[in-house]
Amino acid sequence: MLTIGMLGGMSWESSAEYYRLANELVRERLGGLHSARCLLSSVDFADVERLQAAGEWEEAGRFLAGCAASLEAGGADLLLLCTNTMHEVADRVQAAVTVPLLHIVDVTAAAVRAAGLSRVGLLGTAFTMERDSYRERMAGHGVDVLVPGAGQRELVHRVVYDELCLGVVDDGSRARYREVIDDLVAAGAQGVVLGCTEIELLIGPRDCPVPVFPSTRLHVEAAVERALAIDVRATASVQ
Ligand code: GLU
Repeated sequence: MLTIGMLGGMSWESSAEYYRLANELVRERLGGLHSARCLLSSVDFADVERLQAAGEWEEAGRFLAGCAASLEAGGADLLLLCTNTMHEVADRVQAAVTVPLLHIVDVTAAAVRAAGLSRVGLLGTAFTMERDSYRERMAGHGVDVLVPGAGQRELVHRVVYDELCLGVVDDGSRARYREVIDDLVAAGAQGVVLGCTEIELLIGPRDCPVPVFPSTRLHVEAAVERALAIDVRATASVQ
């Protein structure tokens, strides 16, 4: 089994899900006492959020690239950047290491295409919903992205930073997210991407009349698949 390097802490509420899901999936696949081999580099999210708010993406990229290099030096065979928002600097992070970084948008888009869909609504931070990079990368996979209107984007963003990243899961916020989802579906979304790694703590399939694509779960599934698949090949070549 390969070692998964997790670049987390953004926020730790979702990184805890990455860790839990990776271990659950390995146990499901291998049984018994098997668990995931992983390394976690967990940053102080306040530092990262300050850089985001100041638009200091270069600096954030340098910082996360250093964390990625530490994970590789520690023995990670593949890397997960455990946040959609910070994939803005994914190229910078990938350039700092020789092991693969599994890009969260590629993984999510693959799941959308596998479901036979090509137009999805996107819930995420304002950075994710408003910048071109997320939409363009999805378009590269043949997936069109619809985002909520300005007021609803502000609401979705605020709930991430003021509630979910602080461990608050609120029924009222869930109800408001459901209204946002209904509007996206009415506008033509065939599915809804939970494009922020905390949102699946609040929203699940029962909140959504169309298929949901939870980026944390999909990201971890892809990593575990990779970690175990390569192990299978390695075992085969030994025999
Ligand atoms: N975890 C979130 C995401 O997936 C937001 C926190 C952050 O800004 O990194 O985008």
